[in-house]
Amino acid sequence: MANSFGLMDKTTEQMKKVESYITTGKEMTTDLTEELLKVSDDSAPQDELNILKDVMLQHLRMQQNIHQYLQAVNIAKMKISSECESDETSSVSYSSILESSLKETCQEITSEALQNTPDYKTFTAMIDDYLQPEEALVKETELDDDMILTQTVVIPKDPISQKEVSEPVKNKFCGHTYEKTTILQYIGKNKHVRCPYIGCSNAQVLKRDHLVENSEIKRLLERRHRQQEREGR
Ligand SMILES: [Zn+2]
Repeated sequence: MANSFGLMDKTTEQMKKVESYITTGKEMTTDLTEELLKVSDDSAPQDELNILKDVMLQHLRMQQNIHQYLQAVNIAKMKISSECESDETSSVSYSSILESSLKETCQEITSEALQNTPDYKTFTAMIDDYLQPEEALVKETELDDDMILTQTVVIPKDPISQKEVSEPVKNKFCGHTYEKTTILQYIGKNKHVRCPYIGCSNAQVLKRDHLVENSEIKRLLERRHRQQEREGR
């Protein structure tokens, strides 16, 4: 009896060892991602980040597979023990019990399930915190950042064209945002114009060099674009 569990126990030991490697791998992936974000300041290397997210998901998949296996082994052991107790003469087939237990416990793990694990959410929240520090607070209450992006973040409209900005520039003095080409045309055609936002208190004559790229909105647009690409829209 004790001997019969020997092989299962040995495999369990090995699986646990593998799991510790996976944990190390996850930590290394997190560290590497953090280093990458630290050195890349404003321009987030999206390709690399996507690869690292994928690596994290693969680690999580292996970890889940091991958990399922270990669970199956435990269930099989319990079944075998109880069968041996109830009938000492019975010749229980360990392998068939383990096999059916594996079949019951080990299920296909979907990518969505992996993306919903606390580990993965913590990982992506860390990335988002680096990219969008001002959004971190919202994220704590609702971790689904894509939802937030489409629901609560408003991309400003250009005051002249009334269209959503695609190349946003910001007035250094009043903070208002315009579409780059529209505002440059506006300045070019009219002399002594002021900020075209109605009721803006900025009385200065608008000059080309008052305008800076609105990188915050630009990043949001880029994120939304990636989100739409992911959803295949
Ligand atoms: Zn203004």
